[in-house]
Amino acid sequence: METRMLIGSNFEAGTETEEAVINPRTGKTIYTQPEANPDQINRAVMAARKAFNSWSKTTPGERSEYLLKIADAMEANLEELSQLEALNCGKPISEMRTMEIPYTADCFRFYASAIRNMRGMLAGNYLEGHTSMVRRDAIGVVASIAPWNYPLMMMAWKLAPALAGGNTVVLKPSEGTPMTALAFGRILSEVLPEGVVNVVVGRGASVGSALINHPEVDMISITGSIGTGKKAIEAAQTNIKRTHLELGGKAPVVVYDDADLKAVVEGLKSHSFYNAGQDCTAACRIYAADGIYEKFVADLASAADSIIYNHDDDTQNEIPPLISEVHRDRVAGFVDRAKGQPHIEAVTGGSAPDGPGFYYKPTVLAGALQEDEIVQKEVFGPVVSVTRFSTDDPVLDWANDTPYGLAASVWTSDVNKAMRAAEDLRYGTTWVNTHFVMTNELPHGGLNQSGYGKDLSMYSLEDYTVVRHVMIAY
Ligand code: NAD
Repeated sequence: METRMLIGSNFEAGTETEEAVINPRTGKTIYTQPEANPDQINRAVMAARKAFNSWSKTTPGERSEYLLKIADAMEANLEELSQLEALNCGKPISEMRTMEIPYTADCFRFYASAIRNMRGMLAGNYLEGHTSMVRRDAIGVVASIAPWNYPLMMMAWKLAPALAGGNTVVLKPSEGTPMTALAFGRILSEVLPEGVVNVVVGRGASVGSALINHPEVDMISITGSIGTGKKAIEAAQTNIKRTHLELGGKAPVVVYDDADLKAVVEGLKSHSFYNAGQDCTAACRIYAADGIYEKFVADLASAADSIIYNHDDDTQNEIPPLISEVHRDRVAGFVDRAKGQPHIEAVTGGSAPDGPGFYYKPTVLAGALQEDEIVQKEVFGPVVSVTRFSTDDPVLDWANDTPYGLAASVWTSDVNKAMRAAEDLRYGTTWVNTHFVMTNELPHGGLNQSGYGKDLSMYSLEDYTVVRHVMIAY
């Protein structure tokens, strides 16, 4: 197991505060991870700065070759990476082997091809006697800060477009989930030139803050909470760094009474509870039409109740526990306060099961009202609220009425309603008759306080490159 950080071509142990890395399925400490010291953070940034000179001058074809090798190396190490992510996050091992790691490897393959296919404005004479061309170039050193909910996938979403664009990176995983980032750092060091990717570990307030405030960093890329996004904006203002922010979400799900109810319930069993709802796009804030409300609530509750989550044989499990005890307490707090409201009923779940680990029962809270905390605030757990609406209610306004704007869905068999909702819902992604489905070709990112960076797709490659104009007078 790799516990050392990658700084240039060196593997170094941190020397500062030790953070317990915990298995959420058991609550037991796996090992303790010391965090990076200021000199190590500085040397990681300077290694990336040095590597930038040559890496940014490689051709798209050369970088593409590297990215393909990274994807191959990830697949060659699929079992090790799956085991580490399952251990550190409690994720069901089957999901790792068959979905998350293969999809993550494909992200590198997508950008291997994307960088060879960038398109842009035509070179030409837009003024007489002046020929102009537009270049797309690398930005520089990127400080990438990842969250704990999909440690390796978020690492790939940040590294692949950044490297494809010719940038070099210093990545910091979340302090509680460093295991796959460190293992993948070792794998990357066998593929990439020295300094192109560096990995440092530690807490946000110490290591993260030192990294994003470093004067040799040109861009900050953060996936995390709104509060951390604000810290990135503060750090960016000192030397005008570019920022790429992917922040939280509170995805609304509007279910009209002409929807295919069976499909909605089957869909939401996965879209609301995958990764125990620790997902910024999780379908957590449901608005159900009067005509289907009772049956929908009953069917969703029984679907939630059927989810397997703490089976001794992990290959049977469909969702993980919550990431930590602190986070489980936070989720339980939201549910307890909701249950304290006379109009809200916990139709299923609503508590933690007995036994070890940070599990929380899949929970459906019916009867919630628009102004309730459970409807307004991001819970990030296996918890959905259901709010009833009638034809007179401004349900799309309700759906838009939170500070977030990451993802939404509408379920209906009426194409007019679907198109109206797609236009009116102010979200980075709006799904119709599905939710949560992503591919590496299509953009993921928010509006409002969910941030403005686009992950995945050609749009992310645009975010990680700069447009430059060259004009030649003759
Ligand atoms: P967090 O903001 O607490 O931490 C995210 C990362 O930021 C961690 O690596 C942390 O160490 C680091 N960090 C914290 N303070 C920092 C600082 N001052 N300077 C630099 N780095 C700092 O978030 P989290 O609890 O790890 O993740 C959950 C949050 O992330 C949720 O709000 C969720 O919605 C959001 N999220 C968003 C997306 C998206 O694509 N929009 C995806 C996943 C998670």
